[in-house]
Amino acid sequence: MEKKHLSVFLIMAVLLASLSGCAGGGGSNSGGDKDGRLDVAVSFNPMSELAEAVGGDKIDIYTIVPDGSEPHDFELKAGDIQAVSEAEVFVYNGAGMESWAQAAVTASENSTLIEVDASEGCDLIITGGVADPHTWLSLKMARIQALNIKNALVQADPVNRDYYEGNYSAFSSELDSLYEEFKFKFDSLADKNFVTGHAAFAYFCRDFGLRQSSVENVFAEGEPTARKIAELVEYCRENNVDTVFMEELASPKVSETLAKEIGAKVEKIYTLESSEGNESYLDGMRKNLSLVYESLR
Ligand SMILES: [Zn+2]
Repeated sequence: MEKKHLSVFLIMAVLLASLSGCAGGGGSNSGGDKDGRLDVAVSFNPMSELAEAVGGDKIDIYTIVPDGSEPHDFELKAGDIQAVSEAEVFVYNGAGMESWAQAAVTASENSTLIEVDASEGCDLIITGGVADPHTWLSLKMARIQALNIKNALVQADPVNRDYYEGNYSAFSSELDSLYEEFKFKFDSLADKNFVTGHAAFAYFCRDFGLRQSSVENVFAEGEPTARKIAELVEYCRENNVDTVFMEELASPKVSETLAKEIGAKVEKIYTLESSEGNESYLDGMRKNLSLVYESLR
């Protein structure tokens, strides 16, 4: 599988090299194009939300993984490389989320590009020797990610430094107060176990001393086996689980079947991996926290 991906990247790189040769070099890497806003390419939706929180109306965001696609097995297209080649800043989550990010940077041949590995400095959770990429689902880690993004925006567009600093500081206080509010709530609960679509919530759980079980694994790989479902049913019965969380992109039907089987209700939870409406990062996270809290209360 790795080999197949590699060869796709190589084909893409060659394709782009020939494309950029005849495209007339339309890239604008000088920090200000016609609308004066910074062009920021981001890998997928959570990076878009965090960049938006810090960059506000001073940046234009191009999100590479389209809404509704599964980001864990995404493959680059030529248009995505074009977007990176025209961007001043490229933000990706890192921690292994975007196996294609470096190929995009190389193929973009954008010598002034500022790259942001947003999870740099995050305390990563390693499972089976591999990093869990879902850092953005922790309010604590998202604060670090927003800081990394802010630093890059300031570097790319120093004229608007105060604006980015102000947004970052307001955003991080909101993250902190949301954390405090729910830390207090979750600390008062005896039951800390919840069940969801794929194992995206390890960092979220670490923030609040919770435990997740899931239909799909951490990389959202495939539909679960009958045996796995039987184990989940047993787990839910033993732990008196009365809510099963469903994710739009991670076997939603299986979550529904599981809930039916154990007589639980189904609630939709939002990993932010793909945009599901106009919710900001903070709104989406507040909703997730409330839903999980209510299900355990
Ligand atoms: Zn995921």
